Amino acid sequence: MSLEMSEELKNIVEELKNRGYRMTPQRVLLTKMILETVEKHPTLKELHEESQGVLPGTGVSTVYNTIMMLESLGVIRVFYLDGKLYIDRARPHVNIVCKEPVAIKDLDSGALEEIKGVLEKRNIKLENMLVIIMGNCKNKGS
Ligand SMILES: [Zn+2]
Repeated sequence: MSLEMSEELKNIVEELKNRGYRMTPQRVLLTKMILETVEKHPTLKELHEESQGVLPGTGVSTVYNTIMMLESLGVIRVFYLDGKLYIDRARPHVNIVCKEPVAIKDLDSGALEEIKGVLEKRNIKLENMLVIIMGNCKNKGS
């Protein structure tokens, strides 16, 4: 993994420094790795395994702490399923969890608009959400 930093990564590192975090090269690399894989909804275990290729010997607690740091910043969300910690983008969206084969996907944004509509009818403005729907995805499509 290269040390090249995207605009998003630069901004996050800057924000974390402002909040008093010591941004060691290890933390920067882990942050980069997390941002690059978050769309796939990786687990803590998967991120820890991936980190070994970039930073051999990185402990699982270091990966966990980096995840928590990014969650406190509002960059990512975490959720637990079957005792596993998953990470996800913080933007409002609906996750579909398929049991067989196991996969987590984001539902299209049309679903989000429909949910907003349902809430608006009840005078509720959506501010944030973490929706996880367990689905049987054996049929075609999702
Ligand atoms: Zn998601």
